[in-house]
Amino acid sequence: MQYERLSDFAEKCPYLLFDFPLYTKVKINTSAETTEDMEILDYNEDDTPNIVRHIHFLENKDVRYLKILATQEKNFYYYCPFCKRKLQIIHKGYKLENELSESLLTTYSYMFSMSDEFEEYDEEAAKVSIKRFEEFTEQLFDENKVLKINLECTSKDKHKLYVIFQLTEDNYLIKVGQYPSILDFDNSLKEYRQVLKDKSVTKELTNAEILKTHNMGVGAFLYLRRIFEKLILEQFEQAKLANDIDVQVFNDASTEDKVKILHEKGYAPTYMAEINPFIYSILSKGVHRLSEKECNLHYDTLKESILLILEEKVAMARKEKLKKLTKNELNKIHTKLSSKSVKLVKEVAATEKIKEL
Ligand SMILES: [Zn+2]
Repeated sequence: MQYERLSDFAEKCPYLLFDFPLYTKVKINTSAETTEDMEILDYNEDDTPNIVRHIHFLENKDVRYLKILATQEKNFYYYCPFCKRKLQIIHKGYKLENELSESLLTTYSYMFSMSDEFEEYDEEAAKVSIKRFEEFTEQLFDENKVLKINLECTSKDKHKLYVIFQLTEDNYLIKVGQYPSILDFDNSLKEYRQVLKDKSVTKELTNAEILKTHNMGVGAFLYLRRIFEKLILEQFEQAKLANDIDVQVFNDASTEDKVKILHEKGYAPTYMAEINPFIYSILSKGVHRLSEKECNLHYDTLKESILLILEEKVAMARKEKLKKLTKNELNKIHTKLSSKSVKLVKEVAATEKIKEL
């Protein structure tokens, strides 16, 4: 999803506050919007209705969302980096000195056809919209056009979190700071570290994230490509250890074929094999041909794919461990039962001997 204007975050408030990259411009469009409805005034003698049509001029949805974002009390279930778990996080919402103006700017009504008057309403709505936006932002932002949003987690420690926004002259909102950092909110890597032999993989994922938070998508893509290559190598090492692969054939193969070979032998996570035909070529295209903007736009999906491969690796490792464990236990049970039956045979033989005597 592309986030270019403030209302794009309407359903994604925590993402804007905690995960959205710093220094990325988000437009606040201040031009008025319109909605239409109609009303039946009365009926003529022949039962035809007399209809009046209304055109309502409203504040732009970006402005309406800024009001909600800043002034309404909110709580969302999210990860607290201090508690290291998910819980409710609250933003109390700013109480402004002057009451918030309503979103309706003006309404133009007509019965048969629009008159020139409409133009006047249109111009008036545009003016009122800008004036109200200025009044609102003057109250909300400080003299440097900076807004700090304070949040609190609901644990007994009430951890404090905050986000700082800057409003530009041309009405862009830019996140210029946050505490804890974007990386602190990303807790997705811990469990993967345990199953990865190559510990640099999680470090490189963190590097990719850092680059992404600064909108350097091409660099972030390069790290993702390295990670994908390293994951293939890890699976290859397993196959090599089990003496289950032709090293020369593997080394000579293209990246796509390498995954195919590993998958056929049961060494590649299924998801890795499924996305194999396109993930590597997308990552390579990103490194060589795509713009920073395109790489930034697609980064989250590609990172998610890498995380899914890692998740499958975690599941595979867990399964292997469980297999080994149950095999050992079965062996023990088998040995115990066998020795018991040998003892029983010996006992029976001894009894038979006594009988013979
Ligand atoms: Zn907390």
